[in-house]
This record gives sequence, C-alpha cells and structure tokens, in this order.
Amino acid sequence: MGKAEVGAELRMKQPHVVLKPGKDKPVRQRHPWVFSGAMAHIGGEPADGDLVSVFDAGGQWLACGYLNRRSQITVRLLTWQPDETVNDEFWRGRLQRAFHARQALAANQATNAYRLVNAESDGLPGLIVDRYGDWLVVQFLTVGAAQRQDLFVRLLNELLTPAGIYERSDVDVRSHEGLPPASGLLSGLAPPSPLWITENGLQFGVSLAEGQKTGFYLDQRENRAHLARALAAMPGARVLNCFSYTGAFGVYALAAGAAHVTNLDSSYPALVLAEENLRRNGFDPDQQASGVAGDVFQVLRDLRGQGVAFDAVILDPPKFAHSQAQVLAATRGYKDINLLALQLVRPGGLLATFSCSGLVSADLFQKVIFGAALDARRDVQVSGRFTHSADHPVLLSFPEGEYLKGLLCQVW
Ligand code: SAH
Repeated sequence: MGKAEVGAELRMKQPHVVLKPGKDKPVRQRHPWVFSGAMAHIGGEPADGDLVSVFDAGGQWLACGYLNRRSQITVRLLTWQPDETVNDEFWRGRLQRAFHARQALAANQATNAYRLVNAESDGLPGLIVDRYGDWLVVQFLTVGAAQRQDLFVRLLNELLTPAGIYERSDVDVRSHEGLPPASGLLSGLAPPSPLWITENGLQFGVSLAEGQKTGFYLDQRENRAHLARALAAMPGARVLNCFSYTGAFGVYALAAGAAHVTNLDSSYPALVLAEENLRRNGFDPDQQASGVAGDVFQVLRDLRGQGVAFDAVILDPPKFAHSQAQVLAATRGYKDINLLALQLVRPGGLLATFSCSGLVSADLFQKVIFGAALDARRDVQVSGRFTHSADHPVLLSFPEGEYLKGLLCQVW
C-alpha cells in the first residue's frame, strides 16, 4: 500500500459521507446543502451534529460540514478548503466576517437594529443573529447549530458584549431537523418590552420575546426608506398599509409627509403596538391614522364596495408558498389581493407590493401583477424594485437564500 492510499484509508476511518456517482456537482459548486438522496453511505460512526468529510464516489475529498440524519438536508457544508479545520477559531472567524460585512450599518447612528448573521448566506448554516440595540436575538435552526449553542453564545458575548442574548428558535423549520421549538433568555439581562430601536432615525417598539420573526421585519428596512422617498413627492397622501404588523411602513409614510395612514392587520397586539409607534414618533394615532383589525382579503373587498380610493396602497403579506405544491395557490392569493389593491389606488397613485415566498420568483411575481393589472383594467408602470436590505446578503452559490421581492408601481 502506497503512502497516499494509507492516508486515504485513515481519512475514511474519520466520520465521513460518500456521495453517489454523479451527485458531486452541487458540492463542487459550493452549494451548502447535501440531500440524503445524494449520499451513498455514512462512515466512521458520526453522531448527528458531528463534523463529517464529504467525498465523491471516487474517494476525492470535496468539503466538510455537519451531519443530521433526521433532516432531508443531511449535511450542511462549512468549508471547501482541505486545510481548514472547523474549530473555535473557525467559528470566530466566520462571525467576524459576518460582522465586518455590516460595518457600515454598525457605524450608522440612525439605525441600531439589523441582521448580523444570515445563516447559510454568511457561511454559518442554521444560525441567525439579529441586533436590536444592545440586545441580540438568535435562532438555532439546525442540529449542528443548536449543539454549538454554548460556543456561539460565548463568542457573541466575547465579540459584541451585548446587554443580553435572547433565543427565538420557536419556528417550524426546527421540526424538519427533529428539534423542538425553544425560546428564552440565554445570557445577560432580560430585554425590556417593548425595547425601543431606531431605524433610519425613526423609533419602533419591539417585543423580543413575543414579536413575529425575531421581533421586527428587519429585511424591509431599505424598502421602507425607498417607499418613503416616493411618498415625499406626494405630500398629504392617504395611505393604506395592508399587513401592517406594528405599522412601520405607516410611520415612514407619515414622516415623509403623508396626511393619513390606515394600518390593517389580523393581529390585534400588532395594531396596539402600531399606535404606540405612531405616538413615539410624534404622530397622533387618532387624527393621522386608523387601525383596522381584520382579514386583508375581506377588508379590501369591503373598501372596494364603499368606493374608497387611496393615494398609495402597501401590500406586504406573509409567506403564501411554503412548498412547491403551494405555489399555484400562492399566485392566486397574490393576484387576488393585488387586483383589489389596484382597484383602490386613485389614478396616478402608488402600489408597493411584496412577496416573501422564496418559491415565487421575481419573474413569476411580476407576471402575477401583470395579470392583476389586466383584470383591473389599469395601466401599471414599475418605477422601482424592492429586495432584501443589505444585511440580508444572498450567497451566489445559494440562490435559495433569496426570498423577498417587490414592485413599486404607479397606477393609472
Ligand atoms: N409590513 C410589516 C410586516 C408584515 S408581516 C412590517 O413592515 O413590519 C405580515 C403581517 O400580516 C403579520 O403582521 C400578520 O399578522 C399579518 N397577516 C397575515 N395574514 C393576514 C390576513 N389575512 N389579513 C390581515 N393580516 C394578516
């Protein structure tokens, strides 16, 4: 046996995964997921969460990642460099790289809430870290990330010295990993509720323990500013903010010179916090806003029946398509609300419409809006396109990381 063969034999005794013939291309293209169906066998007796080397069918080393047999995504890849060891230094380096990419935001006095770590897209599969002022909110979405929870908490404390770290791993995707939901304070002080954050100079109350997602829709920050710039050219506008959550788009609209905002959401607690947000920013929720608790699909029909018109309508619905099988139904839902919204915009007014369904591409979404415009018999000009804010980067080798898209439309 030659030296190289002895080396290869030793490596095969370490925890490893061998791919089926012809299944190595995505790994070579640095896609961070290995699906169970691509694997020929698992060797070296790794436990779930352990590091494994990934070899092609011919025995060539391709990458290293961590394993979870309970997930269809059985290996999440971490490095494609044969000489890189995944140890504490590795994780510290990855976190530092993610923080470095947010330097401009960290230096921006007008904003103190943003995503610091965006999972796979930051080379840290299964890990989300959001900054809310002096607090951090974390999500551990995979077994590999959850098992390293103590290490991440230690590194985050060491690198960022937050007042506290709060876990919000109470999300459905954990069930695909065989993990139960988990939430609560992991270190430091409990956050106040609401915790007041600053975004583009405006104040928003966030409940880290109870709020949706990790508390706030940070991915919409730049889109809110974008829409506000468009509304600034329309002083005195009356705005309908559908799927308003805690009214962030509405606060931006009033700050940009709108006269009145109607916040519409099915969540009553979100509307209560929306009123607090208006007050905190110097607006009068009785004079300059109204909050409507209801179902957007129904309320838009009611408003259309009343012949009401708005200068601008915002549609920022939750994810409609959670699987490929739901895409058709999702497009019908998008078409329905966009048709109704177009009918409620006065000629020359604006529609800002979003989709956060990753499975609905920007191209498909635009086709849906086109269909809605035809049915509404309105001319629609696209005057802007929305995507994630810069703190939600998309890794080129991981297009699945892209989910948010939107169109700013002028409606005639
Ligand atoms: N635009 C918000 C985020 C919206 S998230 C922001 O900038 O912060 C989606 C919101 O839609 C959630 O607040 C949820 O409560 C609400 N929602 C979901 N389905 C709804 C429905 N059918 N009608 C009204 N609101 C709904």
